[in-house]
Amino acid sequence: MKELVVISGKGGTGKTSIVGALSAIAENKAMADCDVDASDLHLILSPTIRKNEQFTSGFIAEINKNECSACGKCIDLCRFNAITDDFVVDRFSCEGCGVCAYFCPKEAITLNENIAGEWFISDTRYGPMVHARLGFAQGNSGKLVSLVRKEANEIAKNNNLDLIITDGSPGIGCPVIASLTGASLILVVTEPSVSGIHDMKRIAELTNHFKIKTLVCINKYDLSNENAQQIEDYCKKNNIEVVAKIPYDTDFVKAQIEGETILQYSDGEASKEIRNMWGKIKTIIMQ
Ligand code: SF4
Ligand code: SF4
Repeated sequence: MKELVVISGKGGTGKTSIVGALSAIAENKAMADCDVDASDLHLILSPTIRKNEQFTSGFIAEINKNECSACGKCIDLCRFNAITDDFVVDRFSCEGCGVCAYFCPKEAITLNENIAGEWFISDTRYGPMVHARLGFAQGNSGKLVSLVRKEANEIAKNNNLDLIITDGSPGIGCPVIASLTGASLILVVTEPSVSGIHDMKRIAELTNHFKIKTLVCINKYDLSNENAQQIEDYCKKNNIEVVAKIPYDTDFVKAQIEGETILQYSDGEASKEIRNMWGKIKTIIMQ
C-alpha cells in the first residue's frame, strides 16, 4: 500500500482543495486529514461520521477539596503556576508532571488523563476518511497526526485499498514531520510568493533529509510568472519534478462553497492540469 502526503508549509496555497480533487480522481483509496488544528477537508468531502473516539494525551491534576487541608504546598511546588490561590488546577497551565500529587501530604490530588481532542472514522463519497480535531490550546498535534495516519493505514489494509491520500499538517514543525515520515511520496503544493518559495525550500530540505521522493505543484502559478520560474529553477537544480502548474482560478473557492471538488465543479484549465498531474503522480507512486 502506498501513501501520498500532500504538504505546503504555509497556509493558503490551496493544498486542501488539491487533496479534495485528488481524492475524487484516485481509485481504491482512503483519506487521512492530518491538519488537526484547522482541518477543512471535511468542507469538501462532507464526511458522515461512523465512529469517534477521544484522543487523550498526558495528564491533568485535580484537587479534591474535601481532602485538601489548604497547606499551600502544591502551589509552592508547581513550577508552571498551574494552581490558583483557592486550590483549583488551571487545565491550560498544568503540564501533568505529577509533582503536586506526589508531595501532597493529604493525598488530595489525582492525575487524570487529559482529553486533548477527538478523532473520527467517516465515510465520504470518495471512500473512507480518518480525521481529527485537537482541543483548544492543546500542544500534542504530532501525536494526534500519527494516530490519524495509523488508523487510515489500518482501514486501507482491512479494505484492500492501494493508496492513502494524506492532507498533511501545515508548517514544518513536529506535526508536519509526523505527517510525512514513512510516506511513499510527497507532493508539495506551493504558490509563487516569497513566503511560498521560502516554505517550499524548507520542506524540500526536510523531505530530502528523510529521503522521501518529492514532487512539486505550483498553484496559482500565473500570479507571478517570475516567482514561478524561480520555483522551477530551484526544483530543477535539486532534482525535484514540477508535476503541475495550476493557473489561478476562482472556481476553487466557488467549488468549496458548494462542498464540491474543483473537478466536479468545472472543467477549466485548473481541472485539466490536476487530472494531468494525477496521471504523473499515479505512474510514479505505483511503480
Ligand atoms: S498540597 Fe494537598 S493538602 Fe496542601 S494545599 Fe495542595 S492539595 Fe491541599
Ligand atoms: S501536575 Fe505538575 S503542572 Fe500540574 S498542577 Fe501539579 S505540579 Fe503543577
